[in-house]
Amino acid sequence: MPADVAPRAAAMSLSDEELARLEAWLRGRATIGAPDDCWEWQRGRTVAGYGTARFGGKQTVASRAVWALLYGPIREGAYICHHCDNPPCVNPAHLFLGTPSDNVQDMIRKGRMNCVKTDASRASARSLMRAMRARQRRPLNARLTDEQVAAILADSRSQDAIAADYGVAQTTISLIKRRLTWRDVTATAEPAAAEEDR
Ligand SMILES: [Zn+2]
Repeated sequence: MPADVAPRAAAMSLSDEELARLEAWLRGRATIGAPDDCWEWQRGRTVAGYGTARFGGKQTVASRAVWALLYGPIREGAYICHHCDNPPCVNPAHLFLGTPSDNVQDMIRKGRMNCVKTDASRASARSLMRAMRARQRRPLNARLTDEQVAAILADSRSQDAIAADYGVAQTTISLIKRRLTWRDVTATAEPAAAEEDR
């Protein structure tokens, strides 16, 4: 397999901060769900169905903006492709970098496709999805305990107030409240209930 087709960037798992930054940027722009779900762009779309976004002062395709946000500038001539074949999807686990190698260029010339799924791109997508699933159970570098999360879920104050109280970012609280992290923890009115039952 040609080395430049392998989506090197996607093989890296993303940190909690990187995913929180993405979540903050996507809020109000796309639906955000589980790693397996397509996160569909809710704003402008091209005729072909791809999201359109302003990013870095330029109008671009939403999936390219997401990729650039997470991994940095996209090399000229590279494509951001969808494993899910769903143009409006911006779930990073469904995206991969399709760099034109000679044989891809050949396919483009023949008008066939500009995205070629490889074993490497599938493996990267699976590894990112695993990391995201793990994060939805427990964020990497988690600073909160299960008991604190249970209390946060039951806390009716504003997310900013709760975040300040626990010394974490508001996005951390938002992810908890929207059940995107610590999904197995339930809000408890009673403190320290049934710890041994897990
Ligand atoms: Zn998708």
